[in-house]
Amino acid sequence: MNVRDITESRKLEKTLHDYVALIDDNIITSSTDLHGVIVKASTAFCRISGYTREELLHKKHSIVKHPDMPKKIYEELWETISQNRIWHGELKNRTKNGGYYWVDVIIYPIYDDEGVKIGYTAIRHDITDKKRIEEISITDGLTGIYNRRHFNTLFSRFFRSAKRYNDLLCFAIIDVDHFKAYNDTYGHQMGDEILIRVAQTIQNSMFRSDDYCFRLGGEEFGIIFKDENPEKAFSFIDSIREKIELLEIEHSKNSASPYVTVSVGVICIEARLIDREEDLYAAADRSLYRAKEDGRNRVVMGVR
Ligand code: GH3
Ligand code: MG
Ligand code: MG
Repeated sequence: MNVRDITESRKLEKTLHDYVALIDDNIITSSTDLHGVIVKASTAFCRISGYTREELLHKKHSIVKHPDMPKKIYEELWETISQNRIWHGELKNRTKNGGYYWVDVIIYPIYDDEGVKIGYTAIRHDITDKKRIEEISITDGLTGIYNRRHFNTLFSRFFRSAKRYNDLLCFAIIDVDHFKAYNDTYGHQMGDEILIRVAQTIQNSMFRSDDYCFRLGGEEFGIIFKDENPEKAFSFIDSIREKIELLEIEHSKNSASPYVTVSVGVICIEARLIDREEDLYAAADRSLYRAKEDGRNRVVMGVR
C-alpha cells in the first residue's frame, strides 16, 4: 500500500467508526442468541431501558418485557422468528425502575458465515408519545375506562368478527338507577365518585382477553363479551349487578334498594341472526328499558 492508500483507508476506518458510534448512540438495538439471551445492546437501548450494558448482557430478553403485554403477542413473535421470518410490531417495555416505554420493533434472524442461524437482532424506535396520545384519545377522563369513541371502534370490529365466525354476540348496557336523584341528594361530586366506583367494579370483573367495558356516556356503561351460551352470559352480567349493590353505597332515593344499584339490558345472540350493529345496540337498549320498567336493580336479557 502506498501512502495515499493508507490515508484513504484510515479515513474510511474513521468514517465507519463514527458511523457505528452514531448508530450505537441513537438506535435502540440489541441482539440475542437463539434462546433470547442478550449478547449485544446499544447505548440507546441501555438509556431507554434504564439498565447498564453489564446488567443487560447474558440476561433473557424478557427482562424488559412489560406485564401489560398479552402473552399472545410474544407467542406470535417467537413463532415468527423461529421460522426465520421477520417480526414487526409494537411492544410496551418495562424500564429498570418500573416505568414503561413503547417501541416499534423489527426483529430478524442473524446467521454466521456458514449460513447457520445464531440468533436475532431487534431494531426499535421509541413511540411512547404516540401511544400516550392514543391512550388519552380512547380513555374516559373521569373513570379511566375506555370511552365512547373507542366503543364505536371496538363494537364494529367485534360485530364483524363475530359475523365471520358466527359467534355468540353478547352486549350489555348498564345504567345507574335513579342517578339524577342521587346527584340531587348527595351532590354532583359524590355522583362522580359513584361513576368511578361503578366503572372500577365493572372493569375488575373483566377476566377474559376478549371482554371490554366502556363508559358510553353519562351514567351508562357498556360491555362487549364472548360467552358459550346465554345462561352463562346472564350469570356473568348478573354477578356484576350484584357486586355493585354489594358495595353498599347509600342511595336513599333509590326505589329498588337502600344502596346504589344498576339496571342492565343484555342481548346474546348468534351473529347470523343479526344484520346490523345498530340492531344489536337497539336490542340491548330495549332490554334495559324493560329492566327499568320491571323495577330496576335487575338484568333483562333480550332474545332479539
Ligand atoms: P333511571 O333509574 O331511569 O336510569 O333514572 P336516572 O335518574 O338515572 O336517569 P336520567 O337519565 O333521568 O338521569 C341521568 C342523570 O345522570 C342526569 C345527569 O345529571 C347525571 N349525569 C350524567 N353524567 C354525569 C356525570 O358525569 N357526573 C354526574 N355526577 N352526573 C352525571
Ligand atoms: Mg341513563
Ligand atoms: Mg339512570
